[in-house]
Amino acid sequence: MSHVRKAALPLLVVALGAALAACSRNEQAADAATTPVAAPEATPAAEPAGDNVHAFQIGTLQAAALRDGGMSVPNDNNVFGVGLTPDEVAGVLAAAGLETDQLHLSVQPLLVRDGERVYLFDTGAGGNMGDSAGKLGAALQAAGVEPAQVTDVFISHAHGDHVGGLVDAAGALAFPNAAIHISQPEWEDLQAQASGEGAAMAGLVAAITPKVSTFAPDAELVAGRVQSLPTPGHTPGHVAFRISAGEGETLLYVGDQVHHPVISVQRPQWTIRFDRDPAAGAAQRARTLEAAADSGERLYSVHFPFPGLGRIERGSDGQLAWVAE
Ligand SMILES: [Zn+2]
Repeated sequence: MSHVRKAALPLLVVALGAALAACSRNEQAADAATTPVAAPEATPAAEPAGDNVHAFQIGTLQAAALRDGGMSVPNDNNVFGVGLTPDEVAGVLAAAGLETDQLHLSVQPLLVRDGERVYLFDTGAGGNMGDSAGKLGAALQAAGVEPAQVTDVFISHAHGDHVGGLVDAAGALAFPNAAIHISQPEWEDLQAQASGEGAAMAGLVAAITPKVSTFAPDAELVAGRVQSLPTPGHTPGHVAFRISAGEGETLLYVGDQVHHPVISVQRPQWTIRFDRDPAAGAAQRARTLEAAADSGERLYSVHFPFPGLGRIERGSDGQLAWVAE
């Protein structure tokens, strides 16, 4: 996220709208999209494709973080720390040694190979975030996987930076042979959005419908391997995924319960605009983080700095912290 550039103002306004729409489809986001101030900077495709793949193991399973892109959000209290002052947010960022005028988010779907099966967890933004994301295809290729080899896509929730990559630029299925697993309440919500907001999501919904396989939020999706965990709040049908590889080796894909490695972890109770139900989102975030601190389980966070692997630790003062691998 260190390679940022200034773009022309109209582009920035579009990027802000796209970034917010990607994570949130509420009315406040629509308002923000029309406000040409404090716009974020886009992250260009400056890195070679190989730098967008981080291969690692989950026990005996081969996995890889695939960088789709990223976004920057201004510290203007419109997204992070809603209801607080920018100085309050800046204070927490500064104490962690981060810049204080904007917050950087990465976008990195997860690839897992399981014998003959190839899993993707979320699909990035596709065309929803302009040049700042939508590079999953290149990263997948760099990881040595063709789109047609993907057998299963697991969707944490139906925001544009997670489902956008399900279709290509022409609107056709990006992973033509893959079953698309999405929780029943989330699928119902996406369908309702598509009928209410029109073209963009309607086209996506029509394209993926033949491949969608819905599940109860607490389902075992692949026996002994992939379990979904109900984690509503960010969206009504949001789920996390626990990937198990035997011998007690697990990885918890937390989805969008958290967005920023400092603000989300150290101030889980703060309202983030992206959460559809702010109170439920904050409560769920706190539960997940406290459980992760207790268990020491390895986490994968789709929006934390690439590659998003790490654990939650609790300091002697009770303060939680993200410790990246
Ligand atoms: Zn997201």
